[in-house]
Amino acid sequence: MSEKNPFVIAQTQLDKCAEILHLDPAVHAILRVPRREIHVSIPVRMDDGSLRVFQGFRVQYNDAKGPTKGGIRFHPDETIDTVRALSAWMTWKCAVADIPLGGAKGGVICDPKSMSVGELERLSRGYIQAVWQFIGPDRDVPAPDVYTNPQIMAWMMDEYSRCAGKNQFGVITGKPLPVGGTLGRGDATARGGMFAIREAAEVCGVDLSRARVAIQGYGNAGFYAAKLCRELFGAKVVAVSDSQGGIYNPDGLVPETVQEFKDKTCSVANFPRCEPITNEEMLGLDIEILIPAALENVITGENASTVKARIIAELANGPTTPDADDILFANGVHVIPDFLCNAGGVTVSYFEMVQNFYMYYWEEALVYERLDKKMTLAYHAVHLVSKQYQINMRQAAYIVAVQRVAEAMKLRGWV
Ligand code: NAD
Repeated sequence: MSEKNPFVIAQTQLDKCAEILHLDPAVHAILRVPRREIHVSIPVRMDDGSLRVFQGFRVQYNDAKGPTKGGIRFHPDETIDTVRALSAWMTWKCAVADIPLGGAKGGVICDPKSMSVGELERLSRGYIQAVWQFIGPDRDVPAPDVYTNPQIMAWMMDEYSRCAGKNQFGVITGKPLPVGGTLGRGDATARGGMFAIREAAEVCGVDLSRARVAIQGYGNAGFYAAKLCRELFGAKVVAVSDSQGGIYNPDGLVPETVQEFKDKTCSVANFPRCEPITNEEMLGLDIEILIPAALENVITGENASTVKARIIAELANGPTTPDADDILFANGVHVIPDFLCNAGGVTVSYFEMVQNFYMYYWEEALVYERLDKKMTLAYHAVHLVSKQYQINMRQAAYIVAVQRVAEAMKLRGWV
């Protein structure tokens, strides 16, 4: 297995943390592997009348602290090891954000861009029919992730409710507002990341009102990150990219205009008055903040030394390999690690579950205020440990998270 296998990376990160913490070997052994994996085959009638069978997964990594939680991806390159890694990171994310949930993740191998709306709906419902007995509001609660969206969550919630024979809004988060969604969920991941960036900038002495920002990925996380960097800090977004290519304008981009362009052309590439830029070139830009918001393994041992940014805010999951981490730490680049930086999404998802449970919905300002508090506390808990142990922020985040999960396991008598 190569070093780019995300699950091997997740295990390596845990092993490093176990070493620093002198973690009880029994706790370590349990935390190295998922508690439960569900592999399903989903037959879907396609529009042309043919039947295709899709492969799907749900991995429930650890539920010591509460029901498991984690998104569902629809992606042609999905693998069980990616889902395993993401479910482990969800466990650490919920623990670091100090919310009473464990970690899980789901995925279906498919190419949603080539599927019709009807085919996507049948696939979404088929996935739930295959896993519904293993999920539920007090068991395991999915959410959107790469190439899944609120509409897909609404279909999935509806299908689960049909299977359960009653309305079960709390089974899934990231739903549209009229069917049990929460205000503030749309941009929660990016907004949570902004609160972490605000605290990191303070620590690193970066003036955000003059900061230049580059963002890799222009989907849910990337677009809102661009928008909020300008809106909240007055920072200048100089480069963005998506799967078709990237654009660079040193004078700054207007994120909403770029989004309008992307809505028409399906990509940010070729946006007027910009130079084209590759992902590799983006990493080496002379900027203050770099935000990976696409896929895994983009900052590696080969390119990490080219990074000039002071802060890397990992909105994507797993964008940095362990050897890149060492280089970035040695070079004084402050990395806000994925499961801390992008914890805003799951935090507001948790707020959505809470609102579904007591059927009383909060105003947007209250969601933001509570999110800010959670993210700020989480950032400083991690930063404190990184100073105490003289270790990088990712290892520190692991220490905070693993200690919390281990404590729950011990109290429950699992070890
Ligand atoms: P999305 O599907 O909305 O967007 C993904 C974006 O990445 C798209 O713009 C796509 O074109 C781009 N992309 C794909 N391949 C690329 C490449 N090679 N180079 C550059 N861009 C590329 O997904 P999202 O919800 O924004 O998620 C992005 C990342 O953030 C993922 O790692 C996801 O796990 C993580 N994340 C998202 C949330 C959330 O609430 N949306 C929460 C936590 C973590």
